[in-house]
Amino acid sequence: MNKSVTLLHDKLFSSYNSPKSKLLSGQPSENLAELSVALLEQQKMSWQQLIDGYAALSSVRTREIQCNGFSVRLQFNPRRIVSSGAKVDVKSISERKCFLCVENLPAEQKGVLYREEFLVLCNPAPIFAQHYTISNIKHLPQAIENYSATLLSLAKDFSARFTVFYNGPKCGASAPDHMHFQSSPSGVIPVERDAEDAARRMLIKTVNDVAVLRLKNYGREVVLLEGKDSESLNALLLKFIDVMRRKTSQPSAESVEEPMLNILCSYHSGMWRVIIFPRRKHRPDVYFLEGEKKILISPASVDIGGLVVTPIEKDFLSVDAALIESIFKEVSAERAIVDRIVEEL
Ligand SMILES: [Zn+2]
Repeated sequence: MNKSVTLLHDKLFSSYNSPKSKLLSGQPSENLAELSVALLEQQKMSWQQLIDGYAALSSVRTREIQCNGFSVRLQFNPRRIVSSGAKVDVKSISERKCFLCVENLPAEQKGVLYREEFLVLCNPAPIFAQHYTISNIKHLPQAIENYSATLLSLAKDFSARFTVFYNGPKCGASAPDHMHFQSSPSGVIPVERDAEDAARRMLIKTVNDVAVLRLKNYGREVVLLEGKDSESLNALLLKFIDVMRRKTSQPSAESVEEPMLNILCSYHSGMWRVIIFPRRKHRPDVYFLEGEKKILISPASVDIGGLVVTPIEKDFLSVDAALIESIFKEVSAERAIVDRIVEEL
């Protein structure tokens, strides 16, 4: 075996749907959710950093904020400073060791190999009672178009127990140089509940049996794609990205960059739901203020989805509805642009 294969095998807790599962100890299972839950139990007994992370999660404080038309849950979680405060510029990224590469994982960290290509890992700075990072086994850039089918298959394989989410390289991914998803227990992010709310749902159109919906009075732009056929759903998601790229890139710029997106995906009763937050900005202006005026909110899928993480206590205590409304408006794509994207689907 070559070195990278050996390294990977040292990291395996189990594997899912893998022809190599016979090489591994333990029972191969057909249920990714159960394997991942078992992984977390094992890691909670053997990996100190993760034990500390979950101990800290048990004492986080939360509070609800009622905004105009929607509500958010604020979570004071000091350990998220590593992500919310992460430097994600090209220079800083190139100068640090990639924390998702197999060779750099802590000695105690193990994962579930997913379809020979990704590794389900426990996130040592959890926001949720079960929080995973699903990282490519190779160091490849964060880019959804190559892996949109994986997003759908992961959501299905995690069954109805977990939601999978993706942060674009320029709007929330703390490792923009290493392809990864994350997952959270189903229904915990407020937008998942709001997406079920009949009073909010507006069906805009249906394309090849995929329903395109928007949510009313939501303070930021969101588009839902719902369907039972993974191929037509994947095709429409890719079309959305392609149209958004054309509508948002500068005419002079090379239109190769990924448009700014946060995406959540779940699978229930034979149906996928893809929740897309088109963005125009990663961090709000208040993030860059100095001293007491600085508010350390760095919105990614979870936050824009309505569970806003504040690693600093002063921010947790002072943030109010007006500030949340203004941050969401500032970082979300403009309504007129989203209107035009949806029109072209
Ligand atoms: Zn890497």
